Amino acid sequence: MIGSSAAMLAANVLTLPLAKAADRMLGPRGCLFTFHRAAPTAEWDKLPNRDFYVDIAFLDRFLAYLNAGGWDVVTVGEALRRSGGADNDSRYVNFSIDDCYRDSFEVVAPVFRRHNVPLTLFVTTGIPDGTLPLWSAGLEDALLKRDSVMVDGQIVKLSKAEERRKAYQRIASRWDGPDAARHHAAFCAANGIDMDAMHWKHAISWEMLEALAKDPLIEIGAHTINHARISSLAPEAALAEIEGSRTRLNERLGINVQHFAFPYGRSADCGPRDFALARRAGFLSAATTRKGLLRGGHDRFSLPRNTINGSHRSLGAMEMHLTGFTGTAARIAGRV
Ligand SMILES: [Zn+2]
Repeated sequence: MIGSSAAMLAANVLTLPLAKAADRMLGPRGCLFTFHRAAPTAEWDKLPNRDFYVDIAFLDRFLAYLNAGGWDVVTVGEALRRSGGADNDSRYVNFSIDDCYRDSFEVVAPVFRRHNVPLTLFVTTGIPDGTLPLWSAGLEDALLKRDSVMVDGQIVKLSKAEERRKAYQRIASRWDGPDAARHHAAFCAANGIDMDAMHWKHAISWEMLEALAKDPLIEIGAHTINHARISSLAPEAALAEIEGSRTRLNERLGINVQHFAFPYGRSADCGPRDFALARRAGFLSAATTRKGLLRGGHDRFSLPRNTINGSHRSLGAMEMHLTGFTGTAARIAGRV
């Protein structure tokens, strides 16, 4: 939930001067950001699962802020080069999108192009291949557009945005897990939703990825085939997910994918065995979603990344990541 603009202003007044003072002490460092989807402000407000989306106007403002503050926006490859000691007095950020929905192509890439800065896409290949059911997008779409839906034989009436958000949370938390696709299929049948059409309304396509792969500002990385929680798989299955997504992207797009991001990405989702598998699969790096900064000597197969949550729409909140405060706080609290 975002606060009032007065509260946001107060937070910025408090944190931005502190951040500037901290900047001088902290020196060279890299900060990797990640998010999933993006939407224009007017749409964002109504979305039943809006925390999953960055407000694109905010991202636009943040890119301008970084540029004015002397931060370089770089690819993961360049971030690794700098963290390895080259260009040692720089401050740099990377933005990556995980999974890849069609708004990566339609909404986000144009903004990065306008700022003339790179963007990394970690693609789950089951999305453009149409083999991974996008159940959360399908559920959200129905809850956003309809006055009522049928769930498990019961009618759920929907009018205010708040009701739609609560319904999303309630239903998604019940579906989440190995049976999510089955729940979604039953929901689509009960509500007359064309599952295939719904998939392509939200998925990125190979045609879009072909165009993006030709753009010098776009770096393409891999994010498994089926968005699997790697730590939960046996070694062969885990390697097949990691390596398979790289092979598919390389063959389909004629590129050499070098970077990987673990789905979910927290400590319980990927560990030392999985970092070693990413190396074995031929990647040069693998990213997690453990908060923190990139500094010299960091292990390249467990890179920290800071997730931009849709409701964190203040530059003050972003400065907390840029100074490393959120990473330190997460480690102290044991939320890694
Ligand atoms: Zn993901």
